[in-house]
Amino acid sequence: MKYYIIFGPPGAGKGTQSVLLAEKYSLTHISTGELLRKEIESKSELGLKVKAIIENGRLVDDATILEMLNKVVSEAQNGNKGYILDGYPRTIPQAEALDKILEAKGQKVTAVISLEIDEEVIFQRIAMRAQMEERKDDMDRATIENRIVQYHKKTEPLIAYYKESGRYYRVNGNKSIDENFKDICDIIDKIK
Ligand code: ADP
Repeated sequence: MKYYIIFGPPGAGKGTQSVLLAEKYSLTHISTGELLRKEIESKSELGLKVKAIIENGRLVDDATILEMLNKVVSEAQNGNKGYILDGYPRTIPQAEALDKILEAKGQKVTAVISLEIDEEVIFQRIAMRAQMEERKDDMDRATIENRIVQYHKKTEPLIAYYKESGRYYRVNGNKSIDENFKDICDIIDKIK
């Protein structure tokens, strides 16, 4: 099984690239943000709990995220060659939890693909997405800024965490969707 992590700040294009990668390499795409938005939509207990947190641009607590992740990883379909994790891990404790889950299966993270993107491009992309999708956390400048602050504070330390294991690969995320996809595929094909 392959376990790829697609990494980067909000608006880097993780979701878009994950869909393309899942199709090309027969991977299951797990987007924690998408799963959380579905919970909010269905007004489940979990959805009600996380709604305000997400709409303020803060992170949902690690235990809640982990419980959700464990559920989807154990529901894998036939023909699945691995996973593309999009939006997980977002904190060091989440990365440690993932390592433990994989270790128990005799597996490890195959590669972390990091989309590096300029801060002004982040705002442009999120503004574009806000026009196409109804995401409350994309509509308000303060919320977007808050998500970027959370990213720097809690998620960015993961770069050093994964660099240390030698499985960290950088991609210039400022380019077009097609160019980014090609760069990512080149990395995946090289380490296969
Ligand atoms: P983006 O990458 O553009 O911020 P996501 O859809 O990945 O969009 O995430 C949306 C929101 O969902 C985050 O701002 C956060 O509140 C919550 N979320 C998603 N994944 C996690 C996670 N692994 N840990 C904590 N909160 C998360």
